[in-house]
Amino acid sequence: MDLMLSPDQEAVRKAVKTWVDDVVVPRSLPNDREERFPQEALDGLKQTGFIGMSIPEAYGGGGADPMSYVLMIEELGRGDANVRSIVSVHLGLVAGVLQRMGTEEQKSRWLPQMATGEVLACFGLTEPDHGSDAGNLTGTAVKQADGSYKINARKIFITNGTIAGLALIMARTGGAGSRGVSAFLVPTDTPGFTANQIHGKLGLRSCDTAELVLEDVVVGEDALLGGVEGTGIKAALSALNDGRMSISASCTGIMQACLDSMVEYTTQREQFGKKIAGHQLVQELLADTAVQLDAARLMTWRVADLKTRSEDYSLAASKAKLFTTEASVVAANNCVQAYGGYGYVDEYPAGKYLRDARVTTLYEGTSQVQKLIIGRALTGINAF
Ligand SMILES: Cc1cc2nc3c(=O)[nH]c(=O)nc-3n(C[C@H](O)[C@H](O)[C@H](O)COP(=O)(O)OP(=O)(O)OC[C@H]3O[C@@H](n4cnc5c(N)ncnc54)[C@H](O)[C@@H]3O)c2cc1C
Repeated sequence: MDLMLSPDQEAVRKAVKTWVDDVVVPRSLPNDREERFPQEALDGLKQTGFIGMSIPEAYGGGGADPMSYVLMIEELGRGDANVRSIVSVHLGLVAGVLQRMGTEEQKSRWLPQMATGEVLACFGLTEPDHGSDAGNLTGTAVKQADGSYKINARKIFITNGTIAGLALIMARTGGAGSRGVSAFLVPTDTPGFTANQIHGKLGLRSCDTAELVLEDVVVGEDALLGGVEGTGIKAALSALNDGRMSISASCTGIMQACLDSMVEYTTQREQFGKKIAGHQLVQELLADTAVQLDAARLMTWRVADLKTRSEDYSLAASKAKLFTTEASVVAANNCVQAYGGYGYVDEYPAGKYLRDARVTTLYEGTSQVQKLIIGRALTGINAF
């Protein structure tokens, strides 16, 4: 399984795994129970440098290649999807696209602060009435006589929303449709910017999820990503390619956590005078999960490999996202089943795995949206 990894990549995986087992795993269930933000993990992400892992060394980051990034995200996802979310959004959804599409001035201003975690980033695309149909979003950024932009927008379900210092905000600068949308790098302390935490989530309970309200937020011309209007949806889609690779890695991690805990539990628990792992139908749960896990990991690694070779990885990312997210829900459900009634109470992590996995088929393009992307690539017909 590990034959594609270099010694450096193996070392990254080992370092993150050790840290996750020491710092993240012990707090994962208590934080979930209390809806408590994993501050100790965020502090650790900064101390270890994992928070800036994929940012180029020239900007103070770790300069990690895509495969090392994916290995880190898988380990974080195995330990706690809430902790993984902080990093995926910060690096996968914002730092990457800033690096690809930002001006040199924008990169020099933000990436060094993001590399240390001094500034965390959030990604503001979704609006209350425009989720899957983000290309028709209605938040506006109106150019003023002095060249600045006045932004009025509401964004919903924004990960890192209340803790971020920087928000990448997609808002309409031109006419209808996706070509009229631009992307802005908005400091969250700009007057008129507020973030309200959203509670009562099914899963990702210790993750920071917020509604953003931008009321007459004025930013300079230099906040326009790349200095070009009309590229907001292009930027968002580029970010989502990396985001989908991240989610695939995280789901692989959730599946690994499910399998590990199922093996541990079923080889200890006894019913009918023997370990429950000795019952064939229980072994079926383990075997099915193990096979799906291998497939999930390999599909994720393929995306990282294409990205490393600078090939188009968007379709592979959609396929991996569709497969791994759906498979992680099945794996977590198998995990609950293997634990019996104990899987239904929060003494064990099985229920948390299921609740945390469940959101992954919804965000960064639902499963239906991924199928439409794949179908369009196969037929040339846009069925959206
Ligand atoms: C915990 C969490 C964190 C999130 N983090 C972020 C974030 O950081 N930044 C951000 O911008 N957004 C974020 N989101 C928002 C997320 O990306 C959206 O919820 C998602 O894109 C779906 O949009 P929607 O909720 O409006 O659902 P809708 O778009 O209303 O979809 C509802 C249903 O209709 C289906 N549907 C819609 N259109 C079609 C179609 N053409 N064909 C077939 N089926 C269709 C969908 O698949 C879905 O089943 C987050 C969401 C959650 C829950």
